[in-house]
Amino acid sequence: MTPPKHGRRAAPKSLRLRIRTTRDSGASPARPSTPAAATPARRTTHRKRSLRPALSVAAMTFVGGMMIATSVPALAITATDSEPRASVYAPAAEDSISLDPQTIEVASEAETKVMATEGYSVEAAPPPIFSEVANVGSVSIVESGAVVWPVIDPEARASGFGPREAPCDGCSTFHDGVDFNPGNSTPVMSIADGVVVLATEDGGGLGVNVEVQHNIGGELVTSSYAHMQYGSLQVVEGQSVSAGQQLGLVGTTGQSTGPHLHLEMFGVDGVRFDGFAWLSEHIG
Ligand SMILES: [Zn+2]
Repeated sequence: MTPPKHGRRAAPKSLRLRIRTTRDSGASPARPSTPAAATPARRTTHRKRSLRPALSVAAMTFVGGMMIATSVPALAITATDSEPRASVYAPAAEDSISLDPQTIEVASEAETKVMATEGYSVEAAPPPIFSEVANVGSVSIVESGAVVWPVIDPEARASGFGPREAPCDGCSTFHDGVDFNPGNSTPVMSIADGVVVLATEDGGGLGVNVEVQHNIGGELVTSSYAHMQYGSLQVVEGQSVSAGQQLGLVGTTGQSTGPHLHLEMFGVDGVRFDGFAWLSEHIG
């Protein structure tokens, strides 16, 4: 009478509770009957108890399931580990019930877990690139695809990238940037999404200067915008900007012979490359 009730009640959640119940109810009624009536009484008890082993099998089905799960997928292990393991394994060792039928139960459970794993990995966003910049610290730079010209009229240019005759006393004979001439006070814009890693009105020869780091196709690329007007800066260091966002206005601060945008571009190695060629290629 009592055992079946116990068994049914145990069916739900807690494995530990269920196993304990089965074992306790199985042990206690059997013993009192044994000393008094020897053989025949025992048989009756066995028949009456026939339900109990069945329940035990059911319990073992779960226990075995857990054991098998440990040898299968990683996530399934994590999930089953949350169950109190010691109490689950103990009865399994004492009983001699076959663990064969368990596979079915486990299979369905394990599959669900694996599917969940796949779902997560699909949703996971690609990790951003982290960049260490002295004046900003560690900044995460989200990958961006869109690339735009930094000025409204990119065709108007004075000096390209590479060797040149120095345009002034003390000017370099190697031009490590591109000079755009869109007109004084026209907007200077970020060439792509990125993070401002430098924004200063005291950039030495570069005058009012802004540097923006971009993650283009998984590579860190920095663009530098020089000679802008005093008081025209629209951004601060550490700020995220988007492609085409205004940084300042074309001016002639620092070592400059007239209003223009001096644009430099370089990678993590700091080596300058031809920004005009790079932009032409990426803008298409
Ligand atoms: Zn220049």
